[in-house]
Amino acid sequence: MSGPRFPITRPAFDEKERRLLAEVLDSGWVTQGPRTAEFEARFARRHRVPFALATNSCTSALHLSLSALGIGPGDEVVVPAFTWVTSAYCAEYVGARVVFADIRLDTFNLDPEAFAAVVGPATRAAVVVHLFGQAAEMDPILELARRHGIRVVEDAACAVGTEYRGTPVGGLGDLGCFSFHPRKVITTGEGGMVTTRDAELAATVGARRNHGARAAPGPPAVPPKPYEMGSFDELGYNLRMSDLQGAVGVAQMDKLDSLLAERAACARRYHDLLGELADLELPRAAPGCGHTYQSYVVRLREGGRERRNAVMESLAAEGIQTRPGTHAVHCLGYYRRRGIRREEFPRAAQAEDTTITLPLFPGMSPGDQEQIAAGLRRALARAAPAPRPASG
Ligand SMILES: *Cc1c(COP(=O)(O)O)cnc(C)c1O
Repeated sequence: MSGPRFPITRPAFDEKERRLLAEVLDSGWVTQGPRTAEFEARFARRHRVPFALATNSCTSALHLSLSALGIGPGDEVVVPAFTWVTSAYCAEYVGARVVFADIRLDTFNLDPEAFAAVVGPATRAAVVVHLFGQAAEMDPILELARRHGIRVVEDAACAVGTEYRGTPVGGLGDLGCFSFHPRKVITTGEGGMVTTRDAELAATVGARRNHGARAAPGPPAVPPKPYEMGSFDELGYNLRMSDLQGAVGVAQMDKLDSLLAERAACARRYHDLLGELADLELPRAAPGCGHTYQSYVVRLREGGRERRNAVMESLAAEGIQTRPGTHAVHCLGYYRRRGIRREEFPRAAQAEDTTITLPLFPGMSPGDQEQIAAGLRRALARAAPAPRPASG
């Protein structure tokens, strides 16, 4: 199978993943079990939280988080207007109403002032996204949330290992949700994690990911009585991680710090290579907000969506794979049908039209990045905004 010359990302697997996977296969216990527990323990330690619960995706983690908080019909959940769809869909799953708030264009994260402007008597929760690996401005957001009794779920899908003012994300709000999709910092194929400091929330998430059963599943032990089945007192789901994924997660945790260091080095190199292009706004971390560059997202200052698309086509023709940053909600049919209009969230709309994610993954060489930067320079020149006709 041959892909683009420069793919947007590439997972970092080696002998360790293969060995741990083989051990799980040989053990005969392949669903949630000892390797998942080990992955959870290491993830919790690394993010300095007492509880981490693995799931089959970040979407499941978000769903479980709102469910555990008791959010439901009649409640409003604030979500940034520029994010992956499931930051909002999780509120729909529990029957709540989504209320969008605009982002800041320099960080692509929730604008604390836009958040404050939409808080009302029914606001019960906010899904705060650390988009592209950069921590959101948590101090003003948490202060506002505390003042109004709003629960905070961090959508840290992109932000494994990100810190905010020296504290890892995932332990700042009530719950944190991480993704191990192949586009993210570490991957288990598909997978997610819920983090929390609250023992009761952790117990509820743990039960509801496993059919509502309160007893933790594990390798087959001898049950106290052969006929005992558990009491299933609450509605649950099957959103568990398998031990095949858990084993890959354990191997990925070994590499996390070196993967993060490599991403930071790649981002610095792009900054150096692209810094002189007046046409491009490069990703910039706000003070105190860590950035893992899960996505290296640049923004075109001129020309709007048509020019952005032309630049991306040009890059694709040179074998350089790119993607838009993410979605603005007015572009999602599901929300457009509910009357969301582009004019309501002008900064999200601008981010929707003008962002490009460049290839960035550990193992890419300085030469690769030089070629991508050169390709981008050519693409920008080819798609130059039309010069104004001379007068007279
Ligand atoms: C990737 C992503 C998700 C979804 O993660 P899955 O593990 O694919 O369910 C949610 N929110 C954000 C911000 C993401 O980037």
